[in-house]
Amino acid sequence: MTIKIRARLTNIFMQFTKELEIGLNAVVDACRLCVQVRNTLITSDTLDKKDHSPVTVADFGAQALILHALSVALPNDACVAEEDGDNLRTPENAGLFNQVRKAVNAVKPGMTETEVLACIDRGQGNGGHGRFWTLDPIDGTKGFLRNEQYAVALALIVGGEVVLGILGCPNLPVDSHKPEGEKGCLFYAVKGGGAFMRTLNGADHQGRKIHVKNEVDIVRARFCESVEKAHTSHDASAEIAKRLGVLVEPYRIDSQCKYSALARGDAEVYLRLPTKPGYVERIWDHAAGCCIVTEAGGVVSDVSGKELDFTLGRGLESNRGVVVTLPAFAEKVLTAVQAVLAK
Ligand code: AMP
Ligand code: MG
Repeated sequence: MTIKIRARLTNIFMQFTKELEIGLNAVVDACRLCVQVRNTLITSDTLDKKDHSPVTVADFGAQALILHALSVALPNDACVAEEDGDNLRTPENAGLFNQVRKAVNAVKPGMTETEVLACIDRGQGNGGHGRFWTLDPIDGTKGFLRNEQYAVALALIVGGEVVLGILGCPNLPVDSHKPEGEKGCLFYAVKGGGAFMRTLNGADHQGRKIHVKNEVDIVRARFCESVEKAHTSHDASAEIAKRLGVLVEPYRIDSQCKYSALARGDAEVYLRLPTKPGYVERIWDHAAGCCIVTEAGGVVSDVSGKELDFTLGRGLESNRGVVVTLPAFAEKVLTAVQAVLAK
């Protein structure tokens, strides 16, 4: 199935129609690879041994597929992606590399070893002020291993603005009220054109426009945060929620699925509160989600209320943490965040 962008098409979407089509199809292919790897390579044995090689295969494979699609259609575009091909070139990783090539060929037959490596290598861009893509081939590797949430995250940045964001979320329920129902969502947004969701299997074709909730009473707000304690301070979040009188239990999910949860109204606050002094957030962990949630009506900043600055290379060097919420809550939430972090 090939996704074609038609009709809804405001001028804004038309400006990036080609990029959106290429990106959506590439993300769908990468999600297929992830699901196949998850179904074939992860066994109770690999989990018992805490063997991370299946997620590594899917990570490299997804990066190869997406950067291949971009290199064919948009050969002049640079990319800043998480994985480094040199890690597959070592003799001890020859077996792993072979598995990556097989996983890629299962979705895209005929790609040679050299092509796979060359495509992965295209992700070593430096970013900055120009036009470039940023990719996290599997965001939420821990969620992938647990068979919980993860996302394939792709964004296009031009002059520091995230102009296009795509999140493929293979394990996310299509209807959040039916957690056991159909899974697999594709979220996308073009700056100024709104945010959309469709199913990954494409049965609903054009999908639907999504929007953050019009919630006004903060005590009923749902807070969203990482599952991993190392990635955000659960204790500080709990204290912030308490200060704001929030009564609802936190919603813990891996990956940029947190951004999509806010964008479609499943949660109202996403806090990413620094745990490790000096940790710099990676641009690929936020660009796609940031575009989607902003287009859905949410607001994104760091913990001091500063906009995320995507011009400073591979990291968000001038930001600390991330706060995403509804416009009506932003001031209250940031005040509580700053008060708790200042302690
Ligand atoms: P999440 O699924 O939201 O927990 O985020 C996963 C991402 O957290 C990974 O892609 C890593 O890049 C990122 N990460 C790794 N270490 C840290 C850290 N100390 N603080 C915040 N994020 C981190
Ligand atoms: Mg990530």
